[in-house]
Amino acid sequence: MEDLAALFGSLQGELRVGQKIEPKFLTDFVGSRVGQAEIYFRPMDEENLREAMKLAYAAKLPVTIRGAGTNLVGSTVPERGLVLDVSALNQILEFDEDNLCVTVQPGVILKDLISFVEGKGYFYPPDPAEKNASIGGNVATNAGGMRAVKYGVTRDYVLALELIKTDGSRLQLGAKTRKDTTGLNLKNVLIGSEGTLGVISKITLKLLPKPESSQSAVIAYNSLGEGIAHVNLILGAALEPTAIEFVERRCLALGEKYLNRKFPCPAADSFLIVTFDGGKEQVQERLERCRQLVLEQGAMEFVPLSDPKVAENVWSIRSALAQAVKASGVWEPVDTVVPLDKIALFVQSCREIAARFKVRIVPFGHAGDGNVHLCILKDDIEMERWPVLLDHTLEALYEQAYALGGLISAEHGIGKAKRKYLLRHLDPQVRELMLGVKQVFDPLNLLNQHDGYTL
Ligand SMILES: Cc1cc2nc3c(=O)[nH]c(=O)nc-3n(C[C@H](O)[C@H](O)[C@H](O)COP(=O)(O)OP(=O)(O)OC[C@H]3O[C@@H](n4cnc5c(N)ncnc54)[C@H](O)[C@@H]3O)c2cc1C
Repeated sequence: MEDLAALFGSLQGELRVGQKIEPKFLTDFVGSRVGQAEIYFRPMDEENLREAMKLAYAAKLPVTIRGAGTNLVGSTVPERGLVLDVSALNQILEFDEDNLCVTVQPGVILKDLISFVEGKGYFYPPDPAEKNASIGGNVATNAGGMRAVKYGVTRDYVLALELIKTDGSRLQLGAKTRKDTTGLNLKNVLIGSEGTLGVISKITLKLLPKPESSQSAVIAYNSLGEGIAHVNLILGAALEPTAIEFVERRCLALGEKYLNRKFPCPAADSFLIVTFDGGKEQVQERLERCRQLVLEQGAMEFVPLSDPKVAENVWSIRSALAQAVKASGVWEPVDTVVPLDKIALFVQSCREIAARFKVRIVPFGHAGDGNVHLCILKDDIEMERWPVLLDHTLEALYEQAYALGGLISAEHGIGKAKRKYLLRHLDPQVRELMLGVKQVFDPLNLLNQHDGYTL
């Protein structure tokens, strides 16, 4: 331990050793898994980041890369070695208006990027609910979010990347171009690689002109099934929604209590929250067509959120649901994704699985892209029974997602939490290929050893 401290002591940055490493640096947002590390280092700049990687490589020290630590899958829970925190690399390096792009360091926080870009009159479409995540973390997890329905996910906006390899050397991938078929697309391999292939140290992101107008509406239903059935109705009506989220009243109640705010339509059981953006007239026309469509088909109420304060209230309650669930006790988040035509069936299966295992499963999420978020709550189940019960519940949910043509993760990634389930469902040939890629980038297998792609 003292040797390690001496080794890293010559670098510039924040250093903590052994017991001095606070638990918050050894966990994720969920907080139920807390790992162990010998050393924590937060380099103050890229040069010191590279030096730290060189030292770790020479000492064959396992490295767990940490951005803002908001992941929900244990991917910043180290088993040993070095926690490499890149949050101090938080500069916006270049705004290139001619090429409509911005270049940032990985530690830039999403909300800061959004306000910078919007201040210049532009728009960065990826919209994960956690605005305190870092851009490096967003790229490393290929974060999705609310606006994925219309605009896609983080990957769709990454033009170029710089990677610090495990031996400290630097690699440039991609360019400020809108098209790229120049050889194998290694940039896309890195996006979503969850810190298993290197440290993303610079990112160039594509921007769009800011839409003239954006407006949301809440659609109220008697049951979740009715609401979910309307997702495909809206998607099929050429209305081009920006976002379609779904949530049940019993889940909203947690968010309302957590923020001490009230959601509209207190009598309804379930809701869709839809957003349209574009030209002012087009947005109003689409809202009206959506209103007519869903009311004709049996929705209880359609509430346009024309007052920005009311809209902010609705979205803040929606965005706080994960925090609210966390505050209510022990929980496990699930991030399954199914084809659009299977959303209703999958949500129904979740109810049956909850009843079969006698656990509370709260569903909410990005319904418009098939990403069904579930929170499994321990409530008053005894701690001795909980791990096994949770394991059986997760296995049943993942089995069902696969049976319907879906996948384990849409946007949160694999991390420690889903590794076991991924390995159970992954085609061995695909796994071999993934391990081959891992071997090329990280021959000593030092990076995020706990993660799903590693052996
Ligand atoms: C309330 C809440 C809501 C959320 N909503 C969404 C949502 O809507 N959509 C969504 O996609 N996610 C969501 N998330 C999950 C989380 O915010 C994202 O996964 C986010 O991208 C993680 O970023 P981070 O900076 O916190 O990364 P961390 O949690 O620090 O790290 C995540 C992973 O990325 C790796 N990593 C981080 N930085 C780098 C880097 N520079 N180079 C290489 N690897 C790196 C880490 O090793 C780890 O494997 C939510 C989380 C919370 C708490």
